[in-house]
Parts: sequence; structure tokens; C-alpha cells
Amino acid sequence: MIDFSRGYSRRKFLAHTSCFGAFYAVAKLIPLSALAAELASDSRVSATPLVDKGFASVRKIGEGLYATISDPSKGNTTLCNGGFIAGKDSALLIEGFTTAGGASFQMEALRMVSQVPVKGALDTHYHFDHSMGNAFYGANGIALWAHATTAKRIVENYSPLQGADKDAVLGSFEKQVKDAKSETERQHAQSDLNAVTGLYQIANASILALPNHPLDPAKLPVTIDLGGLSAVIESHPGHSGTDMIVRVPQQNVVYAGDLLFNGWYPVCFDEKATVSGWRATLAKFAAYDKDTIFVPGHGQICGQEGIASIREVFDDIAAQAEKLFKAGVPVSEAQHRYVVPDKFKSFPIFAWGFTIGPAIAKLYAEWGTK
Ligand SMILES: [Zn+2]
Repeated sequence: MIDFSRGYSRRKFLAHTSCFGAFYAVAKLIPLSALAAELASDSRVSATPLVDKGFASVRKIGEGLYATISDPSKGNTTLCNGGFIAGKDSALLIEGFTTAGGASFQMEALRMVSQVPVKGALDTHYHFDHSMGNAFYGANGIALWAHATTAKRIVENYSPLQGADKDAVLGSFEKQVKDAKSETERQHAQSDLNAVTGLYQIANASILALPNHPLDPAKLPVTIDLGGLSAVIESHPGHSGTDMIVRVPQQNVVYAGDLLFNGWYPVCFDEKATVSGWRATLAKFAAYDKDTIFVPGHGQICGQEGIASIREVFDDIAAQAEKLFKAGVPVSEAQHRYVVPDKFKSFPIFAWGFTIGPAIAKLYAEWGTK
């Protein structure tokens, strides 16, 4: 295969992405936490990254296993985490990232350690930060795998933003800032406006490319033989209705996509997100081997402590929401009444109306409110 990635100008992408002003305002507040001491001393995890570009670094986390970890405070090229698995015969890339430059960066990292053909690249779900760089795979003839409904949902959610009138897209969010009933509500609405403005800019700067290798969840799990290394692709409910994970059971490594936010408030806004489903998925992850290394969709790589932590966050949201629910507080108000406890003060909140607000609304819906 011709390696187009070499001629690919990442500098151009960086120049381009730096104009995502509103989004950068959100992302620059989200620094990457340091590798936990237990993982730093884990013999599977390499002490120094294979490559570090600031916006993301790639680190070896097992035999033929690598994690791409983003630091949003240093740029939007990748934004989400990913990784790759290189066997003796072929390799699997994970994530399309936010820009084609991000996917190109990961491909270059793979080529630093292996020259095997790429069997495919997987979008763990349809969200923009995992899929807007997909065009890189199209340009390089790499098959793109994803949940069977991912292509449809990319088209439905992001095509309408392209060429759309900015005021029409942002109007209702600007109105919420103006009409906020309290300073708290105003801040929540402003965080939502910043996130949607960033999404609008990124959608208009991107060429959407769709997965051509749909994975029917009814036919999963599927085991992919890469030559001495087997990866298992599974589908689980929770974050987006299109969520896939990649497990390497022989080495106790899991690429969890956005079913795991490590040290962040979970993003729950998706119409197909389900809080009860997500918590059930996390309970399954908690039952995996105690030495499991998880590559989350966002945040630093972690062990089981990362699973315990996000479960605690969901427990806390549910406990606070339940009190409000029992006190008869209407959902529109309850969504703004959650108080971040001291122990989660350092956890980034991507935007209130994409994380905590919808988590409370979904819990209310599950409890059967009007
Ligand atoms: Zn997501």
C-alpha cells in the first residue's frame, strides 16, 4: 500500500484547528492527569511515550498494544484517546479522532513500530471527536469499522451543521444564556453554547467520511486474529447507542471508548445514552480481571480504580437526583441543582448540558416522572 501519510501536512491541520476558538476555550481547561503510580510501575506500560506531540502521546501498554492519549489542553488535533494493536500479520487502529491530522498522527506512530498491513480502523462510536478525522482512512484505502448505525448517525447529526446558518444553530443556546434564571443556570447555558459553537466550527471544517465495514451488534463479539494477537470487539450500552470496545483478553487490556471517562464527568447527552445501561456496563468492567488496563475515551489510562471512580460519580449524581426527585423538584430545575462534591472538583465537565444535566433528566425519566 502506498503510504500517503508521510506527505500529509499535520502543520496545516494544526493551523486549521487553531481557529476552533470556542472549542479551544472548552478544551484548554482540560489538562491530562499524570499516569498513576501503579500503572507507571506496571511492567506492561512503557515509562516513556513512543512519541509525544503535546496534543497526544502514544505509549506502549502491552505486547503489540499501544494507547494514544490526548491532552485537550494542548490542542484539538485528536481530542479523544485511541490506540492500535499490531500483531505479526496485521494491525487494527482504534478511532478516527477529531481531525484527519489526528488519524494521520496515530498511523505514523504505528509505522514507527510495525510495517504490517492495516486490517482496519475502528470508530468506537459516532461522536465527532472520534469520527471527524475518518477521511484520512478513506484517503489511505483503510477499511473503516464501526457499529452498524454509526454511518447513519454521523450523517443525521453532523451533515445538517455543514453550511447551516450559524444563528439558526446557536440561537436556542444563546437564548438559554439570555433567559437564565440564576447565575448558576447562566454558567451552565454558557458552557453548552461554547461546546455547540465548537462543534459547529469543527463540523464545517471537516469532510465527513463514513465507516464502510458495519458491525452488526447481534453478531458480536467477534474475534480478530492479527497474528499471535487476538482482539475481541464487543458492543455495550451506555454512552451513545453505537458503543464498541476492543478487548485483548490474553493481556488484560481494554480499549473502552467513551464507555469510560477517567477522571471526567461522563458525557450523557446522547439521545441513545442510557444511565442504567451505562452503569450495568461499568459493573461488567468492574468484574474484569483486577490487573486490567483500561484505555478510556477521555482521560489518562487506568486500572480498576478508574472504573470504581466513574461508578462513584454516577452513584453521586443518582443519589443527589433521587433526593430532588423525592422532594418533587421538577426535572427542569433538578438538572441545575447538582452540587459537585469536593472529591470530584478536579473532574472536567465538558459542558453542563452534555454531562450532568442530561444524566439527571435520564434518571428522572427512568424513575417515571412527568
Ligand atoms: Zn462520545
